[in-house]
Amino acid sequence: MSKPLPNASDFLPGPVLLLGAPGVGKGTQAKHLVEEFGIPQISTGDLLREHRKNHTPLGMMADELMAKGQFVPDDLVNQMVASRLKQPDTEHGYILDGFPRTLNQAEWLDGQLVAYLLPVVAVSIVVPERVLLERITGRRISPAGRIYNIYTNPPKVEGICDVDGSKLEQRADDTVEVFHERMKAFNQKTAAVIEYYREHGNRFAEVNGDQDIDDVTRDIRSTLLKLRHHPEA
Ligand code: ADP
Repeated sequence: MSKPLPNASDFLPGPVLLLGAPGVGKGTQAKHLVEEFGIPQISTGDLLREHRKNHTPLGMMADELMAKGQFVPDDLVNQMVASRLKQPDTEHGYILDGFPRTLNQAEWLDGQLVAYLLPVVAVSIVVPERVLLERITGRRISPAGRIYNIYTNPPKVEGICDVDGSKLEQRADDTVEVFHERMKAFNQKTAAVIEYYREHGNRFAEVNGDQDIDDVTRDIRSTLLKLRHHPEA
C-alpha cells in the first residue's frame, strides 16, 4: 500500500512550472497556489507588462512583440527571470507561470536550478483548443492582476473587480487575431518544452484544465503532493 499524502500545510512546494497554451488557466491557478502554499508567482507576462507600464527599454520592445503575439528574445526574458529569482521570497519555492516558453529558456533554467535544493516539478494544463478562444477573448484583468472571464468567471458587477472595486481591463493581445498568432507560437515553440519536461525525469504530470477552476486547483494540488513525495507514483 502506498504511503498517505502529507497535508498541504507541511508541504514545501519548491520550484513549480505551470505549462500550457494561452488561456489554459496558468495565471488563475498560480494565484490559487500562491494563497495555498505562500510561495510567489512569477509570471513573465506580468513582469513584461510591468516593464511596459514603466516605459523601460525592455517594456517598449515587449509591447511591440506582444501586440503581434510574438515572443520576447530568450536572453532578455532569461535575464529578467534571473533577477527575479535572486529575491529572497523565492527561497522555499515559486510558481513560474508562462516560462519557459522555448527550449533555449528551458535549458537555461536547468542551469539556474542546479543550486536549488529541490528539483523542479512541471505541470502541464491541458484544454482543447476550441475552449481556449472563448477564455482568451472573455478574459478581463484587474490592475492588481485578478483574472475574470465574462463567460465563465464573471465579476459580480460588470467591469468591476469583486475584491478591490477597481476597473477591469482587457489585454491588448486578447483578440481573436492575436490569439491565433499566440497559438501558432505555442505550437511551434512551447509544445516542445512540454515534451522536454515529459521526457526529462519523472517530475512531470498533465492536469485536465477543462473543468471548474476549483477542480483544476484540486488536481494540481494532489499532483504536486504526489510528485514531490511519491515521484514514482
Ligand atoms: P493563462 O495564464 O494560461 O493564459 P488565465 O489563467 O489567464 O490563462 O485564464 C484564461 C481565461 O480563462 C481567463 O479569463 C480565466 O478567467 C478563464 N479560466 C481559467 N481557468 C478556467 C476554468 N477552469 N474554467 C473556465 N474558465 C477559466
